[in-house]
Amino acid sequence: MLMEDADVLWYHTVEKLKREGIIRSEKVRQAFLKVPRYFFVLPGHSKWAHVDEPLPIPAGQTISAPHMVAIMLELAQLEEGMNVLEIGTGSGWNTALIAEIIKTDVYTVERIPELAEFARKNLEKAGYADKVHIIIGDGTKGFPPKAPYDRIIVTAGAPKVPEPLIEQLKPGGKLIIPVGKYHLWQELYEVTRLEDGSVKTTRHGGVAFVPLIGEHGWEG
Ligand code: SAM
Repeated sequence: MLMEDADVLWYHTVEKLKREGIIRSEKVRQAFLKVPRYFFVLPGHSKWAHVDEPLPIPAGQTISAPHMVAIMLELAQLEEGMNVLEIGTGSGWNTALIAEIIKTDVYTVERIPELAEFARKNLEKAGYADKVHIIIGDGTKGFPPKAPYDRIIVTAGAPKVPEPLIEQLKPGGKLIIPVGKYHLWQELYEVTRLEDGSVKTTRHGGVAFVPLIGEHGWEG
């Protein structure tokens, strides 16, 4: 497929998400237009990059559907200059979108080295490699060296909210995370750490993510 055709298809996907009210802010819309999903899918899947469905990536994982990524980014209410941690790099697509919105460095943790490498190459192709720091490890423990964070975005499903992630939020900071008792069904939680250290949790409906595996997640 020619790049121009891919760009036209991608533009229509973004505008459809806007019409449906899933993309609500201009900054998320602009980021989606600047960071098309085709840079982050497997080469054989480019022709489906604009389709609003998850797609397989190496190691049995998935790149999320565009509407899911938009929902999480809108909930996160990212601002320029925020300190953001992502857990679950996968293809690197969501990481690049975060970098595009906050215009500064992003820290992202991936447990599977093969995927960290896949993401690194994709981010290079898309022009975001210099802004993204990929850490290979167990993201359920967060990433203490760069804490506290304004936002932590988790793109895998946890059985419960990992305590270290709450501890690594700034007062007023938010954690966006799918939480549920089942491996492939969760509710999307928005957890805000209040000034007094307590948390406020708002639930935003059912989602389906691959499991978050680690010390404060599912057993591998
Ligand atoms: N955000 C990704 C994207 O845009 O392509 C999609 C991520 S995929 C749905 C979930 C990712 O979380 C997988 O790459 C998986 O290996 C990773 N993961 C699962 N448990 C993890 C953990 N404890 N720490 C870091 N990454 C983890």
